[in-house]
Amino acid sequence: MRLSQMLFVTLREDPAEAEIPSHKLLLRAGYIRRIGSGIYAYLPLMWRVLQKVSQIVREEMNAAGAQECLLPQLQPSELWKESGRWETYTKAEGIMFSLVDRQQRELGLGPTHEEVITTVAKDMIRSYRQLPINLYQIQTKFRDEIRPRFGLMRGREFIMKDAYSFNEDEASLQKSYEAMDQAYRNIISRCGLAFRAVEADSGAIGGSASQEFMILAEAGEDEVLYTEDGKYAANVEKAISLPAEVETSPFVTYEKRETPECNTIEKLCKFLQCSPTNIVKNVLYEAVYDNGKTVLVLVSIRGDQDVNEVKLNNELVKLATQYQASTLLALTVPDENAQKKWTKKPLPMGYISPSLEDDYIASGEYIEGKFLRIVDKTAVDLKNFVTGADEIGYHLVGVNWGKEFKLQPLIFDIRKAMIGDRSVHDTTQILASARGIEVGHIFQLGTKYSQAMGATFTDENGEEKPIVMGCYGVGVSRLAQAAVEQSYDKDGMIWPTAIAPYHVIVIVPNINDKNQMEVAENIYHELNKMGVETLLDDRDERAGVKFKDADLIGIPYRVVTGRSLKSGKVEVVARKTKESQEVEVTEVVNTLHSWVVEN
Ligand code: ATP
Ligand code: MG
Repeated sequence: MRLSQMLFVTLREDPAEAEIPSHKLLLRAGYIRRIGSGIYAYLPLMWRVLQKVSQIVREEMNAAGAQECLLPQLQPSELWKESGRWETYTKAEGIMFSLVDRQQRELGLGPTHEEVITTVAKDMIRSYRQLPINLYQIQTKFRDEIRPRFGLMRGREFIMKDAYSFNEDEASLQKSYEAMDQAYRNIISRCGLAFRAVEADSGAIGGSASQEFMILAEAGEDEVLYTEDGKYAANVEKAISLPAEVETSPFVTYEKRETPECNTIEKLCKFLQCSPTNIVKNVLYEAVYDNGKTVLVLVSIRGDQDVNEVKLNNELVKLATQYQASTLLALTVPDENAQKKWTKKPLPMGYISPSLEDDYIASGEYIEGKFLRIVDKTAVDLKNFVTGADEIGYHLVGVNWGKEFKLQPLIFDIRKAMIGDRSVHDTTQILASARGIEVGHIFQLGTKYSQAMGATFTDENGEEKPIVMGCYGVGVSRLAQAAVEQSYDKDGMIWPTAIAPYHVIVIVPNINDKNQMEVAENIYHELNKMGVETLLDDRDERAGVKFKDADLIGIPYRVVTGRSLKSGKVEVVARKTKESQEVEVTEVVNTLHSWVVEN
């Protein structure tokens, strides 16, 4: 391709709309243009990258025995009502775009395809002889994200590869899952990226394994906790660890103490001269279930620990039936307005005890009259601890479960694992933290959808059973941008050769110089003929502008038909290292070809 004939517009300045380096660079280099919130045009250079990533994904999926198909993006609401996700997806979470057609039928734009694929399986799979099977597609997904941001990282329209396996039992699912795990590792390595596979939260379904693939980068939205020995890595949402040791409590007798202005752990520790590990803090949450019922949740946890809201959320979903609900819609720390709305009298915030009385709670149809009291494991074994006295300005010291307070029966691990914690698998290993961009997620679904939608098969013994399913997603467009986030410098992007839009850019410093132009044209044609994808910068621009643009768009190799032509040579510069060398004109095509092939 000749730059003179391309839609090629670069910007000198960082666009104001972008926060992170990869987003700035993709905009500046003319790879993408914003059309609306979370909506982007993939311009020619970007589209080439996306096609390359897709092709690598396709090859690895095919090699793992999956079959490509293409499912509809317009999805009838009936399917989502069958699975029970229509209301949550369109209203509660609101992640699904929905519409009504001219016949008054409700439709959704696919954010994911479990419902559609399970319908296909239900129609077409009858016998164990047809299993296992794995179907995938590479397609645009639609999600009405609350906070679309960072360009392609979190778009409202984005490209995903999604695969779904159908298996006769858990053992077979395990095999399909492992095959996908390997395929994902291959995909990301072939794209030239450094990654970490981490244990992931699998929601409240429980039991089922789930793993995320994280591209390591500072701007990542996810936090990963891992150990140096490489044996443990998990998304912080899921991570477990051993909390710091408890210091011996300085309080030996039970007492009520005046603790003025001690509404934070820090102030309280300073005032009482104790360690945060001696404190049981009681944190209030507001949980809204899908039947409209609000429950006030009181979590007792050790003072030096924080609540992991994903873990708490999962436990609350499991408790839904207790409130005649099927799932949880929202979990928040109630602000002043919410507190006013749900209580009769002001709460002693900062001084709450585990036994805060239920008569604080207002009466009403939509509010549960009792606190749901949950104790984190870290709070269970504390002796002679400090906790609130349910009275502003007062705490209790020397408190023990079973004496001053009854230990509530709901005890869960809902603490947030932290950097510096000891690992569970080996206590000499300390958790370290890194930022990651989730580019893939593999998940053992089990029979959640097949059961709800009636997708069954007949097993060897003639028995009818729900099909066991797995689902596997790669964010193709997110991965492409993550590649930039992992590899750039002050001058621009540095594409890994495997997914670069072009391999080589040939720059003609002065297009009016016949010799420069002729040699460049020749190299350009020869390289393309050999399959080395090459751009020719034949624009009527200053050489400096051309060099800057070449650096910005990040093509792995640059060839310059400049001064060295006098001695029969061209200059070749590697984008990544900026190393420059002079290569014989007669050799350059073969040299570049071998470099590109080697990569
Ligand atoms: P996230 O936690 O980032 O919102 P998710 O867990 O909802 O993602 P999945 O449903 O697991 O996402 O989708 C599979 C893959 O699709 C993700 O691993 C991610 O790479 C990609 N993806 C998800 N949402 C978006 C989005 N809004 N924009 C771009 N890629 C996305
Ligand atoms: Mg995910």
